[in-house]
Amino acid sequence: MIENLIRENIKKLKPYSSARDDFNGDKAIFLDANENPFGILNRYPDPYQTELKIKLSAIKNLPIENIFIGNGSDEIIDLTMRVFCEPQKDKILICPPTYGMYEVYAGINDVDVIKVPLDKNFQLDTYTILETVNKENIKIIYLCSPNNPTGNNLECIQTILENFKGIVFIDEAYIDFSSAKSYTKRIIEFPSLIVSQTFSKAWGMAGVRVGVAFSSTGIIEFLNKIKPPYNVNELSQKKIISTLDNQQEFQKKLKTILQERDKMISQLQKIQTIQKIYPTATNFILIKIENASQIYDELVKRKIVIRDRSKIVANSLRITVGTPEENTVLLNELKNLLNKPKHQ
Ligand SMILES: *Cc1c(COP(=O)(O)O)cnc(C)c1O
Repeated sequence: MIENLIRENIKKLKPYSSARDDFNGDKAIFLDANENPFGILNRYPDPYQTELKIKLSAIKNLPIENIFIGNGSDEIIDLTMRVFCEPQKDKILICPPTYGMYEVYAGINDVDVIKVPLDKNFQLDTYTILETVNKENIKIIYLCSPNNPTGNNLECIQTILENFKGIVFIDEAYIDFSSAKSYTKRIIEFPSLIVSQTFSKAWGMAGVRVGVAFSSTGIIEFLNKIKPPYNVNELSQKKIISTLDNQQEFQKKLKTILQERDKMISQLQKIQTIQKIYPTATNFILIKIENASQIYDELVKRKIVIRDRSKIVANSLRITVGTPEENTVLLNELKNLLNKPKHQ
């Protein structure tokens, strides 16, 4: 039962009732919310983003009751922690190297983080995970697939879903780049599963700040209960609705990025000082290289910013796939830097 996993104070919480909760049509005289009667963005946005959800529901083939919209998927990570984790008591489990925000939000919410590192192939150590959840007070397992920054799909998520009684949160920020199957359809089978996706990566809408969670109605209900009433602004809702109407554009950009990525990989393979190019199912490439931090600094001097991930994967740089022009500049600079004789 999901109810048993919810924090007591959240169960008891009386949510803010927004001015528009009692009447939903648009042909009325609205003198209820102290808005300004003049203008075009003068009204508060739809707190439940219904029009956007109807569009998404058709695309994803899931009822709108199973959809939650967040101010970016980062907001969803935070809200899930606040629904389920009692500060200083409940814990979350993550599998590093992975996305940094799970730990940041745990810190903000005063929730302890237990880490079960990925194995040498960046896959889940399911045995240790399941052993750990039995010993510790783990409420949520955050999994990221395809994983950031390693780039690979996680293989054994199902084993976790079948054996863990708490919440499994699957962060699918990069799923559209991957040929792996999304877990969105499995929310019926696993009521304590939350799958999050975002418009920030494959959809190219990072500036709009819209993320989506798919889950059982029991969980969606509580996310709605604690979210800021108007968490997604009017402009963002409209922008995503019009983006969803142009799926062709989305497919075209996605294809270009994937082609560019594969071209970049074949170019990078020719640079001998690169020790390893990790397999990727995303729009970024993680490489292993000695002196990663020095190379990163040299690139910054040349006004090219990539990501130094050496602190979480030894000697590694993460390169996001850019436009064909940007990728060419990066590759040329990298070749110049790396093919230079060592000066030590
Ligand atoms: C980029 C990223 C996000 C952030 O998504 P927003 O919707 O922009 O908040 C979430 N998870 C992972 C793994 C990411 O890489």
